[in-house]
Amino acid sequence: MPLNYCCVDCAVAMRPRKNDIRVIETLDDGVTPYRIWCADLWECPRCSYELIAGFGIKPIAEKRDKDFAEELAEIPPGDAHWISGKLISLPPN
Ligand SMILES: [Zn+2]
Repeated sequence: MPLNYCCVDCAVAMRPRKNDIRVIETLDDGVTPYRIWCADLWECPRCSYELIAGFGIKPIAEKRDKDFAEELAEIPPGDAHWISGKLISLPPN
């Protein structure tokens, strides 16, 4: 298995848990859908830590698209992962 992603705490390779999940990126408010992405969900086999990676180059849909509401409605609830588009400032190292 290629070492795409590794869990630092467990020192093992993460495994793909589910491909082609839908990620709903929100505006800075954290609740208003802005873009829909296709990506993959990865998981650490020991501690179950999860990460989302493998985003496409372009989103599946953006809020300005005519069919955005329909695209959003078609996502099965269990396949939707919400992320905030707000950039979080981290303290300097
Ligand atoms: Zn782990």
